[in-house]
Amino acid sequence: MTGVHHLAQRVAAFLQKRNGAYCESCLIERLLIASRAALKAALETDRFSVRIGVCPDCKTRKQVIACRDNAGSKAA
Ligand SMILES: [Zn+2]
Repeated sequence: MTGVHHLAQRVAAFLQKRNGAYCESCLIERLLIASRAALKAALETDRFSVRIGVCPDCKTRKQVIACRDNAGSKAA
């Protein structure tokens, strides 16, 4: 288990709990992630999907990150 996977786990758990898509800045702030580079590495694990949307935290329309596991697997 690498640090990247551990971080990916934390991000996924956060997104699943909130059932939403958050922007990078808010994820970094909420999860106290050490750096943007660390988050980027975690996002490359294929557990997430990135799209344009409104972040529920900063209410800004920008690139947001959602967890694939709850990205409409049944609704689709
Ligand atoms: Zn945000």
